[in-house]
Amino acid sequence: MQSHASFSDVSELQLNVHGPVFTPADPGFAPEVAAFNLSTQHQPDLAFGALDAEDVSAAVRWAAERGIPVSVQSTGHGATNAIEGGLLISTRRMLELSIDPIEKTARVGAGVRWKAVVELAATFGLMGLCGSTTDVGVVGYTLGGGLPILGRKYGFASDHVIAFELVTADGTQRRVTKDENPELFHLLRGGKGNLGIVTAMEFHLFPAADLYAGGMYFDGGYAPEVLRAFREWVPSLPVEASASMAFLRLPEMDMIPEPLRGKFVIHLRYAYQGDAATASEVLEPMRSCAPFMMDATGPLSPTQFDTIHQDPDQPVPVREHGFLLDRLDEQAEDALLRHFGPGVESPVLLAELRLLGGALAKSADGEDVVGGRDAAFSFFMGAIAAPPVLDVLPTVFSAVHEDLRPAANAGTFVNLHGHFVDAEDRERPWLPSARERLRKAKAELDPKNMFSFGHVVGLPVIDQTVLLEDVVTAGGDAVLNS
Ligand SMILES: Cc1cc2nc3c(=O)[nH]c(=O)nc-3n(C[C@H](O)[C@H](O)[C@H](O)COP(=O)(O)OP(=O)(O)OC[C@H]3O[C@@H](n4cnc5c(N)ncnc54)[C@H](O)[C@@H]3O)c2cc1C
Repeated sequence: MQSHASFSDVSELQLNVHGPVFTPADPGFAPEVAAFNLSTQHQPDLAFGALDAEDVSAAVRWAAERGIPVSVQSTGHGATNAIEGGLLISTRRMLELSIDPIEKTARVGAGVRWKAVVELAATFGLMGLCGSTTDVGVVGYTLGGGLPILGRKYGFASDHVIAFELVTADGTQRRVTKDENPELFHLLRGGKGNLGIVTAMEFHLFPAADLYAGGMYFDGGYAPEVLRAFREWVPSLPVEASASMAFLRLPEMDMIPEPLRGKFVIHLRYAYQGDAATASEVLEPMRSCAPFMMDATGPLSPTQFDTIHQDPDQPVPVREHGFLLDRLDEQAEDALLRHFGPGVESPVLLAELRLLGGALAKSADGEDVVGGRDAAFSFFMGAIAAPPVLDVLPTVFSAVHEDLRPAANAGTFVNLHGHFVDAEDRERPWLPSARERLRKAKAELDPKNMFSFGHVVGLPVIDQTVLLEDVVTAGGDAVLNS
């Protein structure tokens, strides 16, 4: 299918919405489509900054009438592959946020980041199930399952959603709960952006008391000792405890604290909710496995979540590759040390093992499509995506994946899958049965596969190469943004 939108069509869009519309010729276009991952340059034909659900609905209807594909972006933290062509709807202005402290629930607009929820919830002694950084969008994270810091205790963030408000491919606004549109509700929990644009979401919060968490750093020379201790330690962890360890080759950058700048270190991350003395005792085997450079574990407020993983808080150009492990055995340990151990030159700045299990392994109703419930660890690599390293990264990632294959799980976790290389890889986060359910729902709700960007099932039906050609070449920014 081919489609065009004329200059007057775009003016019609502008008349039907309240938020700004940008063509590539407009100075506001580049900041509107910019992603957190600087190596991904989205190039839609048109960008639209929605203010509310009505705006999203009007824009999707406008695109549907013209057969134009639609993508969605909030913070751009999940920009693993570039969006090319079509209409990009940016939700970053949709910042509705309210908390009901009695019911312990939150309601967020599609553009809200975890930081805002964490800070407001903390004033009521509550917390949401955010992951390693509060900079990501609550909705995009949760649609991908949402692997929280305290996931072993509480499960995935998507296990605790009460309602989604969704705009489907025909522009219809739907409230989706386990009673209203149940199959859609199940498929949105882990189904990412396959089925429409979520404009708001309601979910449960949890008591924030008694957190004990933080990170420990070891000199990279102790990687064999720390990795072995980690492997032997994690099976004993109670569900109240979550842990991960990362091989970090830290760049010489001002954003890195002085003692760690330019160093190869092992970063152990730990979080426990419960009695502080027990939390500390549980961590003891890791404290004594090797001399550490820094121990920043202790009682923690939920507003300090970001200090546990110390993820970058400024946009960076990265290429990522993630998969799941069924086990961490001696063979996997040897493979990790061959690729990331002392004395090895690797362009991979971060190679991270995150312990899964506990409540993450059980779906409350068995109906959602979150991948990775059966895996023991998430394994994730990230590297700066700049020449000359960029060219070698696919080979480096494949070599590591191949060496870890005996312990690897066939699936991936969509939020930490990273850059997909082809259509098959793009669908890998979902088990075949989940893919079939997503395809069936898509055939009903989005038969032309309008939402065909990012991690989705199926191939685009719309030929994106000719879309809005005349608008782009007309350079109509003066009228569009007047
Ligand atoms: C530094 C860093 C740390 C991270 N840590 C974790 C972690 O601990 N646990 C975890 O689970 N994930 C983690 N992630 C992954 C993150 O959750 C995903 O990248 C997620 O997609 C980010 O959502 P976003 O809206 O911020 O990003 P965006 O790039 O804006 O969106 C990514 C995708 O989400 C979907 N999406 C976003 N908004 C909507 C919407 N309103 N309706 C429909 N679909 C939508 C779309 O498919 C879109 O392409 C991390 C990512 C980074 C960069």
